[in-house]
Amino acid sequence: MDNKSTLEKMISSNKLGTFFGVRQEVLETVWNNLTAPEGNSVTYVSMEIGADNDALNPVKDRVASLPFTSKDSRLKYFTNKFLHDTGKIPNYSGGLGVLAGDTLKSYADCAIPAIGISLLYRKGYFSQLIDSRAGQIAYSTQWRPEETANLYQLKDPTNPDIPLQIEIPFFERGDKRINAYANLWMKMEINSALDYFVPEILLDYSVATSPAWICKAAEHLYDSRTERTKIIQRRLLGASVIPVMQVLGITSKTIHLNEQHGVVVVLHMISEFLKQKLGPDYSLLAEDSDILQAAEQAADRMVYTIHTPVKAGHDRFSKDLYAEIGHSFCQRILGLLADDDDSPHLFNFTNLAMKVNRASNSVSRIHQQVTKKQFPKYAKKIMAVTNGIHHLTWISKAKAELYDSFRELNHWRQDPGVFANATELMGNNKFRTYLEQAWLADTTRLTTYINQMLIQHRNQMHETWIDPPNFISHLDEIDRNLDPRTFTIGFARRFSTYKRADLIFDNIPTLAKIVVQNNWPVNFIFAGKAHPSDEPGKSIIKLLLDRQKELHEQSNGLAKLIFIPGYDMAIAKLMVAGVHSWLNTPKRPLEASGTSGMKAALNAVPNISTMDGWWVEGYHGGKTGWKFGIETTVTESCLSEDAACLLYEEDSVSFYKLFPKILKTFYDESSRPQFIDKCINNIALNGPIFNTHRVTAEYIKLYQLSLSEPTEKRLAKLAALYNSNY
Ligand SMILES: *Cc1c(COP(=O)(O)O)cnc(C)c1O
Repeated sequence: MDNKSTLEKMISSNKLGTFFGVRQEVLETVWNNLTAPEGNSVTYVSMEIGADNDALNPVKDRVASLPFTSKDSRLKYFTNKFLHDTGKIPNYSGGLGVLAGDTLKSYADCAIPAIGISLLYRKGYFSQLIDSRAGQIAYSTQWRPEETANLYQLKDPTNPDIPLQIEIPFFERGDKRINAYANLWMKMEINSALDYFVPEILLDYSVATSPAWICKAAEHLYDSRTERTKIIQRRLLGASVIPVMQVLGITSKTIHLNEQHGVVVVLHMISEFLKQKLGPDYSLLAEDSDILQAAEQAADRMVYTIHTPVKAGHDRFSKDLYAEIGHSFCQRILGLLADDDDSPHLFNFTNLAMKVNRASNSVSRIHQQVTKKQFPKYAKKIMAVTNGIHHLTWISKAKAELYDSFRELNHWRQDPGVFANATELMGNNKFRTYLEQAWLADTTRLTTYINQMLIQHRNQMHETWIDPPNFISHLDEIDRNLDPRTFTIGFARRFSTYKRADLIFDNIPTLAKIVVQNNWPVNFIFAGKAHPSDEPGKSIIKLLLDRQKELHEQSNGLAKLIFIPGYDMAIAKLMVAGVHSWLNTPKRPLEASGTSGMKAALNAVPNISTMDGWWVEGYHGGKTGWKFGIETTVTESCLSEDAACLLYEEDSVSFYKLFPKILKTFYDESSRPQFIDKCINNIALNGPIFNTHRVTAEYIKLYQLSLSEPTEKRLAKLAALYNSNY
């Protein structure tokens, strides 16, 4: 008889360590799938993965719901860890990483044999302080992987007392070999039933055995202090893929590159194929034709997702610099496959990724058009798979309870397709009332957070030299406190020039007048980080801070512009559910997709956006929100990020024209039902589409996996929800 408690059964172990959250059979099934000789799995490679435990942690939820009676010290250790850890894993900078995490979570939900590979950054991306005079101040994030739930350092199978370490060769000029070493960590992306998981292997190069310059380069995500550091970082990821697979016995036939950052793996694959064909002296024997043929073999295993039309997002490295840290044979391969269209002195890694794959996709329909224009040679093969979000991560507790309360939405957790049934709830007054109540609860959570933050900032000012980022911190409570009934707009994302966070503050007198004329108060809640070396991005944060007082005064205190420092997934989750509308102001067509607006949509929050990225598909003729701005056809000339091409004047004027209509719809009793209609339409029309379960169904077609019949059935149902390539 098996008399282990439910909690005790959540401990599992294999030669790599002891883990908590799934039963032994689950661990074995997942590992067997990944190591089976047929290679029927996918390895997903991403520079960043955003999967903070404080946004979703099914294991913690389960532990919290079970009585703890055991005296088992191991169990005590695990349950304590899961209940008390802050849950942050600062290995992401923005949408790309969060998409990776969301996708892998949906793979776990759908029982897809998959494994993620990324890096572990000991100092995270960076932590953000905001000072009203200095703007953004960046400092290293301190975190302790050892204390983080769901994250395990893997043990050496031959000696469980030491960590599993892999060796990765680097080269200096003259092909002088230098070994780098990395410890392997595993973050488990466990589904809510706790009956499947997707491992994410994070490589930690900051180990004593690695050369100091490698350790240094591995500390921060997207460290771009020098081009050399940037090249090294890309190699840390790409060059580790095959060694990681080998040491763990992972057999995946398909390797999916989430953006080109890890494309160096292709060079290693080509070398492996040549070694098989020509023997150990392949680098001396290989003709160009051999290399090109091996590249075709490698292409057969690669799937590539391109994420941005912005040039800075495409890695282009100086050949001279590459010669310092690359093997001469790698340079030869790059010379054949990574030419740059503009400069003979550069290797272009996006071109390499675009060339060497069997399937490639952009991340929305409009981005597909743009990508085809940017890469005409590959136009035929570039597909669209519009991004999504992991709905179980991003739907707030209050909205989840709402969706749970109506039988029309039964099983929304397992099958986001049921959101389509929300149309039946359009005329249901009980649903409409409950929706408003759930929403008020979410907005109250957000305003309470901000009100406490404002007090905290003021108090901290006495202890630190930080001048609070929100001047209203200094006001009396009655003038300072945000009211959840006030129309609240949210905007949060990376601060990049093309996202134009300051667009709607282009003309403060006009904006203030709209608010004052009708006595319609508005809260503008902003958050986001600018990359520490992105000076224009940082100056937009500063500009917002500089306009706070002006807007407040000109609107007689009716308009408050608040900046929340330290944007992360937890703040995102609070914001997307709590605001009344989500604002998105990118310069069309530079926002490849965008996902934060989808998070709002699945919380029944309408978007206000320029017609770019996912919104072209999510707008539904205005049923789900509002659009503004110029909608010219997409041409190569629109891709410039020059200040003169950013259309501030045109698009802000368009916003000012629209804004009073939105405020009226929200505040005017007679038009308020139209606002609620838009909310419900977001659930009904956008819920079934913009989720990573549907993305999974579309990616699976590119992966060529053979799956169990129930999984196939489930995916077919999800695939029927939408076709990004209509
Ligand atoms: C969703 C998310 C993003 C992506 O926002 P976009 O609007 O798509 O740019 C960035 N950062 C965090 C923390 C997120 O949760």
